[in-house]
Amino acid sequence: MVFSLSFLRLVDSSILVPVSGRAKISRMSVGCNTWPNGQSYSISQVYKKLLPEVVPPYWSTFIWTRSVVPKHRFILWLAMLKRLPTCARLFHIGISDSDACVICGNAAETQDHIFGSCTYAIGCFSAVMQWLQIPYRTVGLDTLCRWIRNGYKASQWRKHVLLVAVAATVYMIWQVRNKGY
Ligand SMILES: [Zn+2]
Repeated sequence: MVFSLSFLRLVDSSILVPVSGRAKISRMSVGCNTWPNGQSYSISQVYKKLLPEVVPPYWSTFIWTRSVVPKHRFILWLAMLKRLPTCARLFHIGISDSDACVICGNAAETQDHIFGSCTYAIGCFSAVMQWLQIPYRTVGLDTLCRWIRNGYKASQWRKHVLLVAVAATVYMIWQVRNKGY
């Protein structure tokens, strides 16, 4: 869609643009005065210019692979975003009575605990690593995924196999947690 420059000057100075994902709103000029001469003014280009520059996380393309079972991929994606409804989150917003880990009960059930320092998670990941004959002692999901992507010196196929196993382990840990909740 192409608009004339005179029309866009009318709306130029008063467009509200969200600065971040939160409720922060700021005034920002569309920048009609800096638009290159001779170029048609298209709404899609203005829209792209208004969007804040977003650097995708390292795992954004890494975990969205067809090798991983879709339901495992989805839970892994939520885990990487730290959006799973753990007891610590539910307690924080007043839904749960306690923030204790449902599986071990020894610490607050945060995302880092349930897939990192929880004794059950350590046991699961250790067993999977031993089964795959990979000498890695997990210290957390994020660190493990970074290691698979950058530190694990192996073929792409072996990396995919490991990612599939990690995604399945995360899914099963979350299933066990949900059964105990
Ligand atoms: Zn625990």
